[in-house]
Amino acid sequence: MSAFSSEHIHPDLRINSYGHYLRRRFGCRVSKVNVDAGFTCPNRDGSKGTGGCIYCNNVSFSPRDTLAEIPLEEQVTTGMAYHHRRLESDKFIVYFQKYTNTYASVGHLAELYQRALALPDVIGISVGTRPDCLTDEALELLTTLARDHYVCLELGLQSADDAILEQINRGHSLDDFITAVKRASGRGLDICAHLIYGFPGEQPEEFVKSADLLDSLSSITSVKLHQLHAVEGTELAAMYRRGAFDPISLEQYVNTAADFLERLPSRISIQRLYGSSPLEIRVAPQWGLKNNQMWYAVLNELKRRGSWQGCKKLAAVS
Ligand code: SF4
Repeated sequence: MSAFSSEHIHPDLRINSYGHYLRRRFGCRVSKVNVDAGFTCPNRDGSKGTGGCIYCNNVSFSPRDTLAEIPLEEQVTTGMAYHHRRLESDKFIVYFQKYTNTYASVGHLAELYQRALALPDVIGISVGTRPDCLTDEALELLTTLARDHYVCLELGLQSADDAILEQINRGHSLDDFITAVKRASGRGLDICAHLIYGFPGEQPEEFVKSADLLDSLSSITSVKLHQLHAVEGTELAAMYRRGAFDPISLEQYVNTAADFLERLPSRISIQRLYGSSPLEIRVAPQWGLKNNQMWYAVLNELKRRGSWQGCKKLAAVS
């Protein structure tokens, strides 16, 4: 047991980082390689909604080398070479990231996922999707693949407040998310929840309570958190320009993210603590920090407080 009352907490980082979780699980450095497999999204093509979420411009969260026209194998090979060079990663997880990566026939999904899993040094896949776009057939497919491979299902919740979900045109409810998590439980899958903080009118105390929600869903294994930020080509950017979106400050974000981590149980690993977008399309906020500086801004706040992930959770039950 570490000084932080949980063997999951990294002594320097003060959180259970996903990178260290993967190292503990696989015994080597594992990196995720993003691919664009040519999906679209039911919240854009009219089957769930049109226009998409108000902050969504997929260019903002998609590295330049992952374009659907490039064969999947080539995207993965390029990504693996980059991560191997930069981080000396040994094994890789192919991350189906762009748009809604279960939004196709199960036959097409099987072909794509299996092509990724057949590549050398690929130990698994991570599939990003909406909680209301998960058919029984897709779940069965992921369950089958998880018997021999690492499979992580990444579900976008973004906010645990239905009023905010409506305001941002998500096209699904909190209940849809909870149902999806329960349907995916007990199938050998890791489940990652995506959250955003900083929606207009959102109260920090309310956001922090989403840590309790994730705690109550025992099959959630990791979380991605980032600040709401506006990029070109989105409704949110238009709102910013007409004064209807007032971005939170870096200090507000760091404080609330640290409060959230203190409440989050240490069993849930942290995949991300910030969002980034290419400078040329970034509208607001402009904090002027690089990705690793954002990551450490939150971790240094925990250090400054003398706290760590789950410390408030542990205090609440002892
Ligand atoms: S569900 Fe995802 S891909 Fe679809 S509009 Fe929203 S953020 Fe974009």
